[in-house]
Amino acid sequence: MQTAGYRLSSLILSLLLLALPVEAGELVVSADFPGGSAEVLKVDQRTRSITVCPAGDPQFGWPCWWYFKVSGVKPGETLTVSVDASTLKQANGSKLSANWALPERAAFSLDGKTWKQTGPGTREKDHSRWIQQVDAEQAWFAWGPAFVPADAQALVDRLSRKHEDVTAFELCKTRAGRSVPALVVSQAGKNSDDRMVIWIQARQHAWESGGSWVGRGCIEWAVSDDPLAVALREKVDIYYVPIMDIDNVATGNGGKNQVPHDHNRDWSEMPRWNAVQAAMKALRQFDRQNRLVMFVDLHNPGASSKQPFFYIAPPELNTPRRKAQQDAFIAVCREEMQEPLKLDRSTPSTGPKYDKRWKEISSNWVRSATREHVVGITLETCWNTPHSQPQGYLTVGQQLGRGIARYLKQDPRPSPALD
Ligand SMILES: [Zn+2]
Repeated sequence: MQTAGYRLSSLILSLLLLALPVEAGELVVSADFPGGSAEVLKVDQRTRSITVCPAGDPQFGWPCWWYFKVSGVKPGETLTVSVDASTLKQANGSKLSANWALPERAAFSLDGKTWKQTGPGTREKDHSRWIQQVDAEQAWFAWGPAFVPADAQALVDRLSRKHEDVTAFELCKTRAGRSVPALVVSQAGKNSDDRMVIWIQARQHAWESGGSWVGRGCIEWAVSDDPLAVALREKVDIYYVPIMDIDNVATGNGGKNQVPHDHNRDWSEMPRWNAVQAAMKALRQFDRQNRLVMFVDLHNPGASSKQPFFYIAPPELNTPRRKAQQDAFIAVCREEMQEPLKLDRSTPSTGPKYDKRWKEISSNWVRSATREHVVGITLETCWNTPHSQPQGYLTVGQQLGRGIARYLKQDPRPSPALD
């Protein structure tokens, strides 16, 4: 038994220790974890400032993504984080605009899970600098809120545990042998050969982390108690692939325009990437069964976009019927997507002038390979605004879900089988 005197003296000792100022430790920057990407250019221990550049290999896509951890922080101190994007190159050796790598506000996290934004940074040519008080001994900084393969796995596992209608599955293994997690929301046994199918996917371009958050918002809404979601689940199966290009997300590479071509230029007769191959196979089958009604591909656009927008069918792939369905869908989305990010009225398309592999873009493939009533569409959610963080992205996803549900109140298939 301890004596009262002993307890008192240890209490005093503890109080004394608490009162002593914690020395600022040596700042250590690391990026050797899944999704990490940073080459450390300088750490100034005196001014508590860190300078990095993105470390992605251009062979594996635009090196605009960066994500690193800082430890040795004295809680409450202010760090200066700088990103030098002056030397970014594309795979062909030409310069990559620094705009892709320099958000006005960086993403930061004190636990590696909950992401916030810094205040606006200071941009000087191809460098940006953000100043952030850190109330923890470590912090993570990134181009945008991270969403790595473990987050995809955790999402599909959590939802399948929580909701009886959700089943997690593996879409495929990647070329590097990694698992591609996916899920399906389906009320098993209910008219299973006539139920409509929606396919939602994100991260054909690995760096565009916002897409996974938008998709998560959509699918979490779809399994919610919102009467619109309940009605949607009654008649529709919803597939979601949170990360298509798992390998480049895992290795912190950008993915976009990787060699020989990226996932969203791979929707051909001979797809190179396993996730694309598996998705095409599933979509073809659902379309053959006359079940597929919608395909949504989630992306982040260029730095100057301040509103979400849809890439719609180019005239080359449009028919009056296809256009009418697409217009009806966009009209309800326009009503839903008001706050905090308002859907842009502009609806560009990815036709022959956009890219020489335009036919191998996923939405275009869907538009040319599936029935006329199928809406294949790309949603680009802006990443460079104060709302381009988890809550804003999740909200856009919920609104997308409500748009889909309202659009599908009427079955768009011309002659659905009788109930
Ligand atoms: Zn993209």
